[in-house]
Amino acid sequence: MHASVGRRFERDVAAAGGPLRRAVEAAAAFLSSVDERPVAREVDLASLRRSLGGPLPATGESAADVIVQLADTAAPGIVATAGPRYFGFVIGGSHPAALAADWLTSAWDQNACLYAMSPAAAVVEEIVAAWLIDLFGLPTDTGVGFTTGATMASFTALAAARHRVLDSVGWDVEERGLTGAPPVTVVVGDEVHVTILAALQMLGLGRGTVRRVAADEQGRLRADALEAALASTAGPLIVCAQAGNVNTGAFDRLPLLAPLTHARGGWLHVDGAFGMWAAAAPSLRPLSTGLAMADSWTTDAHKYLNVPYDSGLVFVRDAHAHRTAMTLGASYYVETTDDRRDPYNWVPESSRRARGFAIYATLRALGRDGVADLVERCSRLARRMADALSAAPHTRILNEVVLNQILVAFEPPSGRDADAFTRAVIARVQADGTCWIGGSTWRGRAVMRISVSNWSTTTADVERSAAAILRCAAEESASR
Ligand SMILES: *Cc1c(COP(=O)(O)O)cnc(C)c1O
Repeated sequence: MHASVGRRFERDVAAAGGPLRRAVEAAAAFLSSVDERPVAREVDLASLRRSLGGPLPATGESAADVIVQLADTAAPGIVATAGPRYFGFVIGGSHPAALAADWLTSAWDQNACLYAMSPAAAVVEEIVAAWLIDLFGLPTDTGVGFTTGATMASFTALAAARHRVLDSVGWDVEERGLTGAPPVTVVVGDEVHVTILAALQMLGLGRGTVRRVAADEQGRLRADALEAALASTAGPLIVCAQAGNVNTGAFDRLPLLAPLTHARGGWLHVDGAFGMWAAAAPSLRPLSTGLAMADSWTTDAHKYLNVPYDSGLVFVRDAHAHRTAMTLGASYYVETTDDRRDPYNWVPESSRRARGFAIYATLRALGRDGVADLVERCSRLARRMADALSAAPHTRILNEVVLNQILVAFEPPSGRDADAFTRAVIARVQADGTCWIGGSTWRGRAVMRISVSNWSTTTADVERSAAAILRCAAEESASR
């Protein structure tokens, strides 16, 4: 390396005024106030476009000025999703160890494709893979891939499933594709997450051709419905279950679903985008009973583990199927021949971010006990929120709060439409800005959906948010 380049970066960090120093300052300013920032901002789209936009500059600007201006002009459009009172979607946050390791990852700029390109990135993935297999109680030889998110994790797992179920009837799907292939039956529950359907769509298995079977009142795939559906199918079979329904947090009964699927020679995939982490917490582990009976699993590190975006994880029991479905096999990819692990073999990517570092740092900073505490704490706080809300009249909790998701409906004053009223309360809560909560539809009914998944959320945050929600409901009730 030219000494001058090294000196330039050193100057950037050490001296005031360099772009790296500016970025650290802007990040510190943001993070030090994230818990008091309004979680929802009225941002004017046109003005955001105007302030950030304009034609591509013909000549360059000072990097430090660009960073300062970016921090300023983006600010109105930056949402405090990383803060402790953002309960929308299932959003997680950034644990300090994860964020710092993520900064290092960018500074190192490793390409986590081949071992040869970054031995450290490759080995860290290998170590994290073993830790997670242990944490979730999966079979030791399970294949692991570090993906962009759960969507691509499910894509990877279902590609491995597609390989195995077609290979078992003598069809090489990697070489021949799906044209002329024996049909594959894919069964999902009625409350399947849309990203499973997206993965099936991208894999050529189709989203409209899946067999949907009934789910129970908590959104769990019904075993009797699966049994009936399987009785009328033959040939290659993939069943998609879930550990943690995105609305209710409910877990499919894997000890019932796995034997039914396997008796038919099928492959059982589990979408555990956030719910899989229950397996890492002793008091919640019973929810995930039977997890290890499945053939593949999807989860996210960027949700419940509180690693920055983008960070998903795929696990496949049949590591050979996993690798075969993902391998690129390009001749110039000097493949390692010993037991060294080339990260790209386990994901649908070639050049890629070294995602292992942030997960590694988080798992080390938390330890086994800390992970369990994070998962249990969010769950405890979710129950506290549900209790605080249900203590008020006219507020109904619609799900069994088993993990971290809560569904709330508000009973309207007489004469007003229930769904419209619940939506109006949600709009008020969002405008109020104490906390941010989104809406969903549950069994045909408009609901408020609360997700507690941030490491920094406290009891005080939950109490303050519950009070704001109830105040908004009362105001809406009195408003017409
Ligand atoms: C969030 C989520 C997904 C999709 O995960 P991404 O990381 O956004 O791709 C899939 N399934 C469930 C149950 C989820 O909660």
